[in-house]
Amino acid sequence: MWAIKCDSGRLILEDKDNCLGIVIRIHSNYYYVDYNNETWECMLRSKLKKEGTEPKVGDKVLIDEFKIVTKDDVISIHSAVITSILTRNNELDKPNVANIDQAIIVTSTYSPDFNPLLLDKFIVLSESNNINPIICINKSDKIDEDLREFIEKTYRNIGYEIVYTSAKENQGLDDLKNVLSNKISVLTGVSGSGKSSLINAINPELSLQVAEVSKNLGTGRHTTRHVSLQKVFFNNQKALIADTPGFSFIELNNIQSKELAWNFREFTPFIPECALSDCLHWQEPDCNVKRNINTETSRYNNYLNLLIEVLGFEKINNARSSKKESQVKISQRADGKNIRVVKIGSQAREDSRRTVKQELSEIGKRTSIDDMEED
Ligand code: GDP
Ligand code: ZN
Repeated sequence: MWAIKCDSGRLILEDKDNCLGIVIRIHSNYYYVDYNNETWECMLRSKLKKEGTEPKVGDKVLIDEFKIVTKDDVISIHSAVITSILTRNNELDKPNVANIDQAIIVTSTYSPDFNPLLLDKFIVLSESNNINPIICINKSDKIDEDLREFIEKTYRNIGYEIVYTSAKENQGLDDLKNVLSNKISVLTGVSGSGKSSLINAINPELSLQVAEVSKNLGTGRHTTRHVSLQKVFFNNQKALIADTPGFSFIELNNIQSKELAWNFREFTPFIPECALSDCLHWQEPDCNVKRNINTETSRYNNYLNLLIEVLGFEKINNARSSKKESQVKISQRADGKNIRVVKIGSQAREDSRRTVKQELSEIGKRTSIDDMEED
């Protein structure tokens, strides 16, 4: 718990407690930590290194052994050492970032058209990752009253925060800045919705790695560049914004079918009272969710569409694991010992050539609920 101030060769020792900072960038073995509005270049304490602990961007870390080096009265370096990493609230792989407070789901009113299924999918991705979704309706210079009414009725009524922006006409930018202040945020949404334009409009010095998610459902590319958190000040309030869009892959392959409904916040109060503990709130008898919500809404319809997608992934994964098991055989060696032989059959080889995405696109041909019911 000490700090050294190297002032043109002068060393000043200061008492300092371990302080809580946030990793905003990583470069080789250096972790850049935002603490007290300064960026500190930190090494990892050797004990953590030995344990194999690796901080991620967004990690809340305790830092110590502060060193401020000045040369000719100009501060040349702030350095410190990371002594521990706090438990993460959430973490994403792509982009590789932790402790995100909120995902700003940038949705456009036209080009690409407003798509409630896609919006609900991004909401599910946020909720399932324990990240608060904020709906940002961009290109609101082109919104019509019917669409605004639909959005208000469907999303505001169930408690989602909504901001209307126009990056083009500089509208709603203060609302967006307020939402971003004092939080760690990722912007997400399909390409063309206006994420880069918004980032640019709120602060021209910021930039966003663009176009990770295509306009089509489920396809994605991700950038190889490492994510970093950009520090921006709006009216003296600090915002940390990831410079890579969130959820590069918008597939729901990590969600179990019986968990999906928990990501629809208006369903959750009713789920525990369904007759079946693994109720999918679809065809099951005595479903308390269906009894209490309006099943004529786009939300419920989108729930069913996403459920089909999730069930499709489960079907593929189950088929794969049962195929895998059937290929393990016990054979006897010449010396009499039993050995385990894993035989890759022609079907398994065939499967390994096909990606989950290809298989899903086949399932996707049966997008209507009626088709599924015939199975
Ligand atoms: P991104 O792929 O999500 O980063 O989207 P961009 O920021 O690249 O924007 C895609 C297109 O939409 C560009 O041609 C922008 O000029 C346009 N655009 C962005 N924001 C707005 C807006 O608020 N209103 C209108 N009319 N066009 C916009
Ligand atoms: Zn149910």
